[in-house]
Amino acid sequence: MTEEPTALLLRAVAFAADKHRTQRRKDAEGSPYINHPIALATVLASEGGITDINVLCAAVLHDTVEDTQTSEAELAASFGPAIARIVMEVTDDKSLPKAERKRQQVVHAASISSGAKLVKLADKICNLRDILAAPPADWLPSRKQDYFAWAGAVIDQLRGVHPGLEALFDDVQARSIELAA
Ligand code: ZN
Repeated sequence: MTEEPTALLLRAVAFAADKHRTQRRKDAEGSPYINHPIALATVLASEGGITDINVLCAAVLHDTVEDTQTSEAELAASFGPAIARIVMEVTDDKSLPKAERKRQQVVHAASISSGAKLVKLADKICNLRDILAAPPADWLPSRKQDYFAWAGAVIDQLRGVHPGLEALFDDVQARSIELAA
């Protein structure tokens, strides 16, 4: 039986909502974590015109392995190996120190699949927009500026995958001047 794409996507949203159910974003309001994966999929579909259901599902699920008790095998069993693979491509190795994980993202961005590049682009677009609109309460301007610079270094490694989304990234990154104290 082949599952309809819409049913698959909704099942992914429900799965991610359950996995992230106790987590909150770092913004002052502590908004529900699930808002973030939903925002990625919305950017891809609404602003990027992406219809590839594997990419949209991977966007919804992209933080489940990194931030919740979810394994690649569990994702593969529930959503198939193609979606699980994209999620794993955008999952940091949490056994590494944070600075090294951030360096690894820059190193690996060029060699991941185009589906994973799209998810990463949407992730960085959403994170920069969030830092501008609803930043973590304890982040100083310098930390925000460092994040903007690092996100740019990651995205520079994967350019060519989707010029429209890359332009959206550039638009939000250009607003880093608003971060000055
Ligand atoms: Zn994310």
